[in-house]
Amino acid sequence: MSHDFILKHIVDVSPERLQRAVCGLADGTYHVYLAQQDNEHVRGSVINGDGKEYAVSIGNGFLSCACADFGYRKVTCKHLLAFALRILQVEEGVVEEEPEERPVNLKLGKVRKTWQTTV
Ligand SMILES: [Zn+2]
Repeated sequence: MSHDFILKHIVDVSPERLQRAVCGLADGTYHVYLAQQDNEHVRGSVINGDGKEYAVSIGNGFLSCACADFGYRKVTCKHLLAFALRILQVEEGVVEEEPEERPVNLKLGKVRKTWQTTV
């Protein structure tokens, strides 16, 4: 399946915005749900860090998101970006659908208190 039409929408996005979307995906701030996809159209929803859900769709030559950012400014908002990136990642096999294993960095040093009683 070709996702060139998705790529077309994210090529002219500023690096900062792109970076934020990538980080949001990586650290779990954004949750992306894919509802439907075919060769020319993908549709789903993105849940923000604040728990709000936005319906998004990306097609050949059009974009749509339910958020105010997109509604007023007609820019590729963070939801659309996160959505687009996620689809591309899954498509490329960059992201596996398994939870990442985190290195355990917790060092629980043993705290031992010795009470010395000298009688
Ligand atoms: Zn949006």
